Amino acid sequence: MSAKLQAVRGMNDVLPEEAELWQGFERTVEAWLARWGYRPMRMPLVEHTALFRRAIGEATDIVEKEMYSWRDELNDEELTLRPEGTASCVRAAIEHSLIYDGPKRLWYGGPMYRHERPQKGRYRQFHQYGAEALGFAGPDVDAELIVMCARLWPELGLSGIRLELNNIGSAEERARHRGDLIRHLEANEARLDAEARRRMRTNPLRVLDSKHPLVQEVVASAPPLKGYLGEASRAHFGGVTKLLDAAGVAYAFNPRLVRGLDYYNLTVFEWVSDALGAQGTVCGGGRYDGLFAQLGGKPAPGAGFAMGCERLVALLKDSNRRPSPLRPDAYVLLQGEGTLAYAFALADELRAAGHAVVQHAGGGSFKSQMKKADGSGAWLALIVGEDELGKGEVAVKLLRRNDPQLRIPRDQVVQGFAGLLQKARS
Ligand code: ATP
Ligand code: MG
Repeated sequence: MSAKLQAVRGMNDVLPEEAELWQGFERTVEAWLARWGYRPMRMPLVEHTALFRRAIGEATDIVEKEMYSWRDELNDEELTLRPEGTASCVRAAIEHSLIYDGPKRLWYGGPMYRHERPQKGRYRQFHQYGAEALGFAGPDVDAELIVMCARLWPELGLSGIRLELNNIGSAEERARHRGDLIRHLEANEARLDAEARRRMRTNPLRVLDSKHPLVQEVVASAPPLKGYLGEASRAHFGGVTKLLDAAGVAYAFNPRLVRGLDYYNLTVFEWVSDALGAQGTVCGGGRYDGLFAQLGGKPAPGAGFAMGCERLVALLKDSNRRPSPLRPDAYVLLQGEGTLAYAFALADELRAAGHAVVQHAGGGSFKSQMKKADGSGAWLALIVGEDELGKGEVAVKLLRRNDPQLRIPRDQVVQGFAGLLQKARS
């Protein structure tokens, strides 16, 4: 016997019951994005590896160890499965001159790929919705991106998702801070762990994230970034928090929040739930004013966020707002000589009229078919036996009521169906 094949580790199947929950989630999110004026974008799953190296940064977790990259020998190209969407979205905006006639609000959704250790809330194929506001420089869109999320959570029926916020300043301010931070870390090198020592020269901001107690002590006495922020950066951030206050959106200022991607500046934020364990961040974003130029485009400001669908769907599963599964309007039962074509045509006509109809397949007694009809969740059973066929009729049973079975002429079924359905659901 040949070995049983299984899905790739960290890449999940979503079975129908859960997929219906995903569909409900996706409908809510996509309608919400449209309401806030964001338009859909679809980018390829595969990009040139150089895009992510340049956009996300060489010394980040993603580029150092999480990318699915390979050499396409047929074209002699280095390719990568996208680990996130912002780099692709900005690449596409540059390639198609999307903001030549003014700023744009865009969104995308779909799978992302990162070679991480699979665990709860962390997968190798996962899904994101991302929103990007391209070409807007002011703090108003930073606040817009944050407030729109604040309005989405209750719409999804979720509570307890809190906002963390930081101001990481301009590239120049960060460079000055970085120099002093590296000097501070070097002076305390003996107390750093291997990870922090490795990071300290390539990406010292990530050392601030360390969970190691000794490293945390060193970090606690490091010069805070806040002291390097100039008037313009402080004013921008003040503009954001003022709008959040006005909108009644609460936040916690977190000076440790740096985010795992290099392209951010000024406002960065994360939405965090305590109900998910260690993987509690459901959405992260910020401003990335240097990214257009970094990818070879004309300099332009930008800001956005990406939310992790698996983590949000996990929260939905725990909330008691699970949508009821989709039910067919009718289930068609059939038995006897010549009934198949008759039933087939009936179901076909009803579907053409916009109704959801499942036709029984696979034979069996009326009794066993009736069990299937009931199990399908359908409101109505339409029954076609030899007697109905002979008289040109259809028997109808209201599956969720105790009413006696009806008989209707075949040519009145489609016309009278809405009425029957209404009665069946009442
Ligand atoms: P984390 O700190 O959890 O690794 P991150 O900072 O790497 O997150 P981002 O790149 O900001 O994540 O991606 C935005 C969101 O996508 C995250 O907040 C999270 O909800 C989700 N996400 C990121 N990586 C994964 C993954 N491997 N599996 C599932 N969801 C993920
Ligand atoms: Mg990560």
